[in-house]
Amino acid sequence: MINKDVIVVGAGAAGLFCAAEAAKRGRSVTVLDHAKRIGGKILMSGGGRCNFTNMYASAENFLSDNPHFCKSALSRYTQWDFVGLVSEYGIAYHEKTLGQLFCDNSAKDILNMLLKECDKAGATITTQCEITAITKRDDGFELETSKGSYQCESLVIATGGLSMPKLGASPFGYKVAEQFGLSVKPTRAGLVPFTLHEQDKSVLADLSGISLDARASCNDTNFNENILFTHRGLSGPAVLQISSFWHPGQAVEFDLFPHGDLHQELTSAQVQSPDSQLATVLAKHYPKRYVQTALPYLGLENKPLKQYQGKQLQQVADAFHQWQLKPNGTEGYRTAEVTLGGVDTNQLSSKTMMAKDVEGLYFIGEVVDVTGWLGGYNFQWAWSSGWVAGQEA
Ligand SMILES: Cc1cc2nc3c(=O)[nH]c(=O)nc-3n(C[C@H](O)[C@H](O)[C@H](O)COP(=O)(O)OP(=O)(O)OC[C@H]3O[C@@H](n4cnc5c(N)ncnc54)[C@H](O)[C@@H]3O)c2cc1C
Repeated sequence: MINKDVIVVGAGAAGLFCAAEAAKRGRSVTVLDHAKRIGGKILMSGGGRCNFTNMYASAENFLSDNPHFCKSALSRYTQWDFVGLVSEYGIAYHEKTLGQLFCDNSAKDILNMLLKECDKAGATITTQCEITAITKRDDGFELETSKGSYQCESLVIATGGLSMPKLGASPFGYKVAEQFGLSVKPTRAGLVPFTLHEQDKSVLADLSGISLDARASCNDTNFNENILFTHRGLSGPAVLQISSFWHPGQAVEFDLFPHGDLHQELTSAQVQSPDSQLATVLAKHYPKRYVQTALPYLGLENKPLKQYQGKQLQQVADAFHQWQLKPNGTEGYRTAEVTLGGVDTNQLSSKTMMAKDVEGLYFIGEVVDVTGWLGGYNFQWAWSSGWVAGQEA
């Protein structure tokens, strides 16, 4: 039997960070992970450069049944605390856009920093370790694993969500929650591309590779970023963002002329160059290939501007300002960046992340029903929730 003060299950962002923090307090800590290689998501994140936090991170950037839950952890360990650590390690970074901070070189810098933090503090990591049973004892927990039996006072579950099963994702954390009587909010894929119904896909697949500036809206939320047509459907930051707010069967509205008034543009073009074709004028604002496909797809005729009545130009403008699309679905957990839902926050202490009714059992990171927008928020939640648990576990 191996005896530890703290066992962390899951050597991802939250688990490694929590382990290092707990070990800094003099606790004996080990991290168990079933994967062969750890830190897969960190290495893949941000296109290999890890968008490790966001300068503007606050509770408004998170989805949860209880939107207040994340406030405490986010304020106790902020984005600036993490930026301070990154700077201490001499990791060069930059703001890409909208407060998103990325490594200049590689996501490896962040993973190496976490491993170094664990190593310096004396937290050990065991990989390829399957946990087969967890039992609660009066003074802690007993774990049966493929690498022997463990005993610990505090057990931290940091096994993440269901997205990207290829990288080791599993429902383990939800099962542990249920074993100990905690409820789990229904899970679904978030930050994920949309798939399209055949009638849309057969036309829009030809636009694969084209990206447009847009405002995507659904359920009273909107995001102003790019959308990207792909051969499978629709992706790009605005689509990934809105996907977390979308429910099957709903339409998403895209304003494809988000920074101006297309009707006004078209009416002044009509005065200045009445013989110009509609497509020629639109091609000043959109890629030509998009205009050629979009006009018939949106049910619009291409003719000289002088042939349009005022009302008809308004209809053209509306078609671009208010493109309604009903996605067929999403690409699901296979490509989703996050999992919405998870361990019910009502049963956790927002200050420590410990289960209110199970002394010594903690849940941190993505396994919890707290999900960030795209833009470094999910890692910040991993750091903040991991840090607060690390001060207590
Ligand atoms: C492709 C991609 C890119 C992303 N880019 C960004 C980004 O740039 N910025 C950002 O903020 N967020 C990004 N995210 C989201 C971010 O990676 C996650 O929110 C974050 O990693 C969650 O951290 P975590 O520690 O809770 O879980 P994870 O990082 O998923 O770690 C969970 C760990 O638990 C282990 N585990 C699972 N089941 C078991 C089990 N049964 N037994 C033992 N171990 C188990 C896994 O092997 C894994 O090591 C991205 C996600 C993906 C998929």
